[in-house]
Parts: sequence; structure tokens; C-alpha cells
Amino acid sequence: MLATDQDRLNCFMHGLKRRNPHQPQFHQAVYEVAMDIIPFIQDRPIYQRHRVIERLTEPDRIVIFRVNWEDDQGNFRANRGYRIQQSNAIGPYKGGIRFHKEVSLDTLKFLAFEQTLKNALTGLPMGGAKGGANFNPKGKSEGEVMCFCQRFMAVLAHHIGPNTDIPAGDIGVGAREVSYMFGQYKHMVNQFTGALTGKGLSYGGSLIRTEATGYGAVYLLENMLKHHGHELEGRTVLVSGSGNVAQYTVEKLIELGGKVIAMSDSSGTIHEPGGITAEKLEWIKELKNIRRGRLEEYAEEFQANYYPQKRPWQIPCDIAIPCATQNEISSEDAKTLIANGCMAVVEGANMPTVQEGINAYLAAGILYGPSKAANAGGVAVSGLEMTQNSMRLSWSRNDLDQKLHSIMHNIHEQCVEYGQDGDDINYRKGANIAGFIRVADALVACGNI
Ligand code: NDP
Repeated sequence: MLATDQDRLNCFMHGLKRRNPHQPQFHQAVYEVAMDIIPFIQDRPIYQRHRVIERLTEPDRIVIFRVNWEDDQGNFRANRGYRIQQSNAIGPYKGGIRFHKEVSLDTLKFLAFEQTLKNALTGLPMGGAKGGANFNPKGKSEGEVMCFCQRFMAVLAHHIGPNTDIPAGDIGVGAREVSYMFGQYKHMVNQFTGALTGKGLSYGGSLIRTEATGYGAVYLLENMLKHHGHELEGRTVLVSGSGNVAQYTVEKLIELGGKVIAMSDSSGTIHEPGGITAEKLEWIKELKNIRRGRLEEYAEEFQANYYPQKRPWQIPCDIAIPCATQNEISSEDAKTLIANGCMAVVEGANMPTVQEGINAYLAAGILYGPSKAANAGGVAVSGLEMTQNSMRLSWSRNDLDQKLHSIMHNIHEQCVEYGQDGDDINYRKGANIAGFIRVADALVACGNI
């Protein structure tokens, strides 16, 4: 980067931090984009005149609300709910809902910003949003989770709709929670519309939505490997997390001949040097989705290695796919992965690698698939769920899988087109610029609104 670009970046970030104090994750997400966009717009005055980067980093609106609910002991409880409507430049606001004890305005702002560019990359007409609450679903009864979801939606319903804003799941919000929220929404507006995605199949959901984020990440990985003359077959893979994204990442990896040697949850990591089989993965799905247990139980059941309070990144591997949470790969972890011979990192989770870690991947020349490209398959199939709801029809599993394949291939091609860096492809730069152009052109076309 030229010194002047660095000056412009510093100046822009200085203003952003001043306007958004105490939001380090939001700063991190914007910096990662601005470092590619600020040099890109230097000889494109139209984007400067329309202040596109400034407008894109300022959400259209933020709704913050109190959620009152009652626990099983009859205690009144209060949590804080949020919806960040980041940009509807290319379509209605769209993005997941996260229930986690650490949810904050900072976290949701970074996610809504990322979501806007990710949704643009899919090529579908979806704006960007994110929402959630600092509600910890762990240890809550079925009744408490239902009560919370209903109370959360009782407020959120006033701000969403099938042509306005369409939420979906994220950490702590799976099929069960989406269903409770959809039920509440339907009850309030007295209309059966596709105002949420990730719904159950019997009431407007789409086939392969559950699998889409994980499958999509592996499809992007396949494209990246193929483009560089490599194959997935026989490669050892570390996957962090054991929730929705991790489970279906592992499922697709196994199907395509990858050897998954580790998974994790927020309590620790399991290590299976021989590889997690399809049967053992089914056991994990039952443990996590039905019994809502801990991975430690897997280690006891199958005599696998278990590392309490550890992430998987110390284990030598060919490929790493973080699928748990933000900043789960530190700078040291990234260096360890590289030193141990890792050839590719593909991000199923949102912003799982700290900035210095990304710099280390790029400096080492390993393949790096950033989250906004790698995990876009989930929202892409959500977009297809919206289309099916509007048309009142359901596509087959095969049709949807082909569409997902083609969307992930297109995302790869956009990264290649805009990410050329000498003889290398910088997928971060490619994804940032390709997503930016689509949103920026729409903002410019619609004028100063
Ligand atoms: P889930 O809630 O289904 O699973 C999350 C997994 O990550 C769990 O195994 C959880 O452990 C672990 N985890 C959560 N927080 C932490 C933490 N602070 N430290 C260590 N482990 C943690 O969520 P998803 O699989 O849906 O989401 C995972 C990531 O993928 C997130 O970054 C999300 O934003 C992103 N994503 C999800 C999409 C989707 O379609 N669901 C779409 C695009 C991105 P435990 O079991 O102990 O809770």
C-alpha cells in the first residue's frame, strides 16, 4: 500500500473510532475492509463524492429494546435486544439473530457490517442486518427459551417483515428458536409470510438451509484448492465449534474424502487422529442438537483425546476451518498453524482470525478464504428460501444444492477477479472489493438518500 493510502486509512479509522468509541470488534471489521477499499476508490471519484465508505459504515438504523420474560421459578427477568439495520441498498435487510451472554452493540455492529458485503457477494437481492440479545440459552428449560423468543419477537415484530427485514439464526439461535419467533410473528401480524428464514420444512422452510453454511464453506474450499492445483481427498482438517456450521462443514468434508481430526466447543477440543467418521458425527449431532451436552462426553464415549479449555489450533493439519466464533484464532495460533504446515484456512465463523493472524496467512502465502466469502452459503440459501416463499413453491434438495454450488463458485470467481495480487490471489481483497462494488453502485444510483 502507498504511504498516502495508509494515511487516508488512518484518517478514516480515526474518525470512525471517534464516532464509535469502545467498539473494538466493529473497528476491526471495518479496518479489514477499508484497507482494501480506500486504495481502490482513489481513482474512482464517484464513490468518493457519494461518500460510499462513510455511508456503508453508518447503519441505517439501530433498534435497542428491553425484553421482559419470566423464568421457571416465576422470577421476572430483563435482557437487552438489538436489531442493526445496516443497509438496504440492494434488497431488504437480512441477517441472523444471535443469543449469547456476550452479545453487545459492538458485536452486532461488526456482524451487520460484514453481512452487508457478504449478502452482496451472493448476487441475490439482500441488504445487511444483524440482531440478537445478551440472553444465555445454556441451561435454560424449553419453556424459558420459548418465553424468551416470544418476548423478543413481540418487540422485534414491529421492525421486520418479508419486504423490510428478514432475520434468521446464528449462534444460540437454531431451528427451535427460529420456529418460536416465527410463531410469535405470525400470531401478531395475522399473516403467513416469509418474515424469517431457517424455518421448519413443514411451514415454509427450505431444504438444505440447515446444511448450507457448512456445505458452502467446503464448496469454497474445493474451488480454492482446485484453482491452485490441489485436492481435498486425504487432507487432515481441524474444525472448531460443534454447532450448526461446524457439523455440516464436517459432514461435507467427510463426504468429499477429507479427514477431520478435531472439533471443539466452548469447553474444549476433541482430537481423533484417525478421523471423525460419519457415524461419530451423527452421535455429535444428537449430543449437541437434542441432548445439548458437552463434547467431553464424546471423548469418554469413543476414547478420543480431549483438551479442556483448549482450541484445536495446536494440532498439526493441512487445513483449518474455524466454525465457532469471532477472534478464536490469535496471532500466535495463526503462526502455529503455518509452522505446522497448514496450507489453507477457510472461515466458517464470522471474523474468527485477528488482523495480525490474517496478515500472517497472507505473508506466508497460504490459501485464506475470508468469512464473508466462505460462510455466505447460509444466507444464500436463506435468499432462496425467501424466493420459494414468495413463489409459494419448494425446490428439491438437488436443485438447491446445485444453486448453492453455483453461488459459491461465483463467489470464488469474483474473489479471483478482484483479488489479483501479483501471481497470488488475495481472497480477502477480492471479496471486499466485489461486495463493495455491488452495494456502492446501488447507493450511487439511488442518489443522496
Ligand atoms: P451454534 O450456536 O450452532 O454453534 C456455535 C459453536 O461455537 C458451539 O459449538 C459453541 O460451543 C462454540 N462457541 C460459541 N461461542 C464460543 C466461544 N466464545 N468460544 C469457544 N467456542 C464457542 O452457532 P453457528 O454454528 O450457527 O455459528 C457459528 C459461527 O458461524 C458464528 O460465527 C456465526 O456468526 C457464523 N455463521 C453462522 C451461520 C449460520 O447459518 N448458522 C451463517 C454464517 C455465519 P458450545 O456448544 O459450548 O456452546
